[in-house]
Amino acid sequence: MRAVLAALGDGEARTPKEVGAQSGVSPTRRTSALNLLEQAGAVVTAADGRCRATGMRTDEAVERAVEIAEHRRETVRSRIEMIRGYAETTDCRRRLLLGYFGEQHAEPCGHCDNCDAGTSREAEPAHAEDPGSQERVRHPEWGEGTVMSTERDRVTVLFAEHGYKTLSLGAVRENDLLAPADQTPAG
Ligand SMILES: [Zn+2]
Repeated sequence: MRAVLAALGDGEARTPKEVGAQSGVSPTRRTSALNLLEQAGAVVTAADGRCRATGMRTDEAVERAVEIAEHRRETVRSRIEMIRGYAETTDCRRRLLLGYFGEQHAEPCGHCDNCDAGTSREAEPAHAEDPGSQERVRHPEWGEGTVMSTERDRVTVLFAEHGYKTLSLGAVRENDLLAPADQTPAG
């Protein structure tokens, strides 16, 4: 990103290809760097495809762009975790999926593979202290979130800033990780 910014340092508009030639950065990395720098507000692209630096300090531009890249990576990881939860569940898949979309169903559907195999939970969490579907919770590290599903051994929570996280219910109970969101003062 520093090399790309340096290639645009004089404020002249250049095509991405020219930026590549000047910076010595490969096309793939150049495209990725330009996209991130544009989102960071350090580069603008005109209708003709030429890029220009906005004059943001290099350190600030790189810091912002890295932040955006990390956030994007976390979003991808979050989606993978959600899909993994769906793939690995022994609970009713239809109920789990509807839970991800905010629909709460106490009863298993009776038609998916897990219901057929008899491994779906009959109703809501076995332990009264476990958070139920759609409950608002607060985690010490990830902040506030909404419970998407609670299974025998794990709970999946959608955190506003960190995406989907699957937590072991054992660890949640032992360390009191999920407090009701409205009962814990912020900070
Ligand atoms: Zn089912």
